[in-house]
Amino acid sequence: MSIAAPPIRILPPAVTARIAAGEVIERPASVVKELVENALDADARRIRVDVQGGGLLLIRVGDDGRGIAPAQLTLALARHATSKLPHDDLATVRTLGFRGEALPSIATVADMTITSADDDSGIGRRLAVAGGQVVHDEPAPHPRGTTVTVRNLFQRMPARLAAAARAQTEIGQIAQTLRRLALAAPAVRFELAIDGRVTLTTSGSGNLPETVVALYGPALAPSLMPLDVPPVVVATLSGVIAGPEVTRPGRGQVTIIINGRWVQPRGLLTAVETAYRPLLPRGRHPLLAVTIDVPPDRLDLNIHPAKLDVRLLDERPIATALAQAVRAVLGRQPRELATDAFATIGDRLLGADPSRADGVRESQTAWDTEQPIVTPHLPPLRLIGQVQDRLLLLEGPAGLYLLDQHRAHERILYERLRANHGHAGPETMALPEPLLLELTAAQVERFGRRLAGLTALGFECDAFGGRTFLVRRAPVLPGSMSAPDAPAAPLDGLGPSGGLIDTLLALADDAAGDGEDWLERLLVSLSCRTAVRRGRPLSRAAMRGLVLALGETSAPAVCPHGSPLLVHVSGTLLERQFGWR
Ligand code: ADP
Ligand code: MG
Repeated sequence: MSIAAPPIRILPPAVTARIAAGEVIERPASVVKELVENALDADARRIRVDVQGGGLLLIRVGDDGRGIAPAQLTLALARHATSKLPHDDLATVRTLGFRGEALPSIATVADMTITSADDDSGIGRRLAVAGGQVVHDEPAPHPRGTTVTVRNLFQRMPARLAAAARAQTEIGQIAQTLRRLALAAPAVRFELAIDGRVTLTTSGSGNLPETVVALYGPALAPSLMPLDVPPVVVATLSGVIAGPEVTRPGRGQVTIIINGRWVQPRGLLTAVETAYRPLLPRGRHPLLAVTIDVPPDRLDLNIHPAKLDVRLLDERPIATALAQAVRAVLGRQPRELATDAFATIGDRLLGADPSRADGVRESQTAWDTEQPIVTPHLPPLRLIGQVQDRLLLLEGPAGLYLLDQHRAHERILYERLRANHGHAGPETMALPEPLLLELTAAQVERFGRRLAGLTALGFECDAFGGRTFLVRRAPVLPGSMSAPDAPAAPLDGLGPSGGLIDTLLALADDAAGDGEDWLERLLVSLSCRTAVRRGRPLSRAAMRGLVLALGETSAPAVCPHGSPLLVHVSGTLLERQFGWR
């Protein structure tokens, strides 16, 4: 499959002048990165990396790529010599390298041997460079491919050697670098050996989730979820994310690959983190790997010396699509009940004294004749009943589900309000009785500034002289208040309508940030204060209505604050707990 490579040549000065200043080799991991990228550019299927003494003693990278013709080997070591810009066209680069600087830079800070063969004769050529001079140049046995050995890195540069003194730190950096390269090339088989011991391997199957598990550990497997992102503008996106139960102290395991290159595009990183934020504890970060492909001319690689930052011409829409996809996956994922948590919850649920009032509330209806509740975003669920007047107990194809009635209602209200907002005619209803708001001078001022926003949301508030406002209409809040003329719906009258006054008063008190986010805070607070409380017994019709409406929302597993509202008790967990197998 390997097509003959274009020859290596020295770039014309007009081209080198346009290339962002090349990076220097700062540490052993930079050597590993450059050499592995060269192997990937040569279409290697297998790459083996050996490291000794944290890379300061030895780094060897061997590949089975297309190799370098013997007659070209000396040229490969020249500055600005590359085979990757045959037409001097920086705008359409598809390879990882293009500056022709890695090999000569490494050769100035270390002793280097490069052996390569570009055919199946079994014989190639070997060049050894020490102190910047070629010390050996001879035919050498080598299968098709290339092996570069770098010894005594920074030996002639005492300052850098001191900085890189801690081999353990360097090993960590090297492993991190290799993980990123391996995630960017799941179809390549990687092997990393540290001081003779193989510590990282990937299968080269091309499967991203499998590669993530190989690199970060099998314990992760149950938490991984595929990310389905519809194509955006010119980009295709795919990836795998771990659920919010997997958190990391740093951003090191948020991996973004664009056109096969590990990069840190700030806008995309922020978008992803923001999508996770409500689900993660403070200071913790998620684990995920996202692969994005765009036409090379929609990506500027040439803005960062280490090529770590790139300019993605369509960053905005791509960031939005990515964040939406992450939110959708997370928001539909019920919280899994962990094995140890089950013991206590199980006691409460199943071992409770049946005479106690907080047991399972069963209805008079024979529930086993009821149809399961089928919705777009939840599995078909059969309603069993209400537990402790705050949870709905449901059965689905994959086990039991516990649903927090308050948070479920919050999610429904929040999405309804959002959908309502900004519509030419938001869905509103006349309040059974107008609400009277008596405000202080400071409140009036803040409230007045937000009146337009409230109107866009579906409120009708009129100044009623002085500091008094009259609220006559409100957005439709299903289940919280029923419009006097509306036919009775299953959710009717669930939540407290007094919540409305509290919310509007709180809004008039909300002095923080007059930016856009007061509206978001208002939506969250409005849905929270008007949603059905925990502790409220529900009719079966109301429970069914709640599940039905929840399954229509985009994120039926988390409330608008980001807390879980649906807990899953898997059949497997039950089997294990009861020792059925
Ligand atoms: P660049 O990767 O920017 O072209 P390098 O200094 O890293 O610059 O490499 C110079 C050239 O040597 C490459 O363009 C490529 O033709 C050749 N080369 C380097 N490493 C390999 C390898 N592992 N397999 C095949 N060719 C290689
Ligand atoms: Mg290179």
